[in-house]
Amino acid sequence: MMTRQLIYSGKAKDIFATEDENVIIAQYKDQATAFNGVKKEQIAGKGQLNNQISSFIFEKLNSAGVATHFIEKISETEQLNKKVRIIPLEVVLRNVTAGSFSKRFGLAEGIELEQPIVEFYYKNDDLDDPFINDEHVTFLKLANEKEIAFLKEETRRINGLLSAWFDQIGLKLIDFKLEFGFDQEGKIILADEFSPDNCRLWDAKGNHMDKDVFRRSLGELTDVYEVVWEKLQLLN
Ligand code: UDP
Repeated sequence: MMTRQLIYSGKAKDIFATEDENVIIAQYKDQATAFNGVKKEQIAGKGQLNNQISSFIFEKLNSAGVATHFIEKISETEQLNKKVRIIPLEVVLRNVTAGSFSKRFGLAEGIELEQPIVEFYYKNDDLDDPFINDEHVTFLKLANEKEIAFLKEETRRINGLLSAWFDQIGLKLIDFKLEFGFDQEGKIILADEFSPDNCRLWDAKGNHMDKDVFRRSLGELTDVYEVVWEKLQLLN
């Protein structure tokens, strides 16, 4: 048997090479981290749930005409993705105040924003992923002006799709984080994952149905992710 070559090991996923140099395997781990890895726990079943949820969402985004890295789910915890050169930016979109946005501006959580706001954070663990603006993005040569405009527009378009889907299953999409990458042709496509690890979802009663359950020790992470997964399946 061939041993798989590990290309990259992240906090939530391991990335392996395949025989096709343009394709990688993403394997979702049973690990939850928060506060830049300061809080860390093994949670059985988390990898499988996030692989299911992210595969489902990416398939729907592909069908809706969003260019993504997702090819197919190949096992409980693994998926095939197009290989991309990740842009080291966390592109965050906010519909409602929460988390670091509330803290930064001294606002309560749960205030609906008149216009969704897109933010950039520089993906750099050593620097604690600092909040940056468009000019910093061009200064750091992470993306040019045209590419920045695309990242913002595409993130707003994705927000429209996702918000409508979650709305249909009684969940409010509060905020989320996306990552993009350059594919083999130099085109920017959506990469990484979309799961309750990197978004906030509130139910009608205001319950947190996302990683805040782990960050804030509000309950069992997998119980909540399981509910999100069950609800999502109602969309098909
Ligand atoms: N987020 C993420 N990875 C990060 C930081 C944030 O996926 O390293 C997501 C987070 O789950 C939330 C959104 O981005 O859905 C906004 O997070 P925020 O800036 O409020 O930070 P937090 O309060 O989570 O530290």
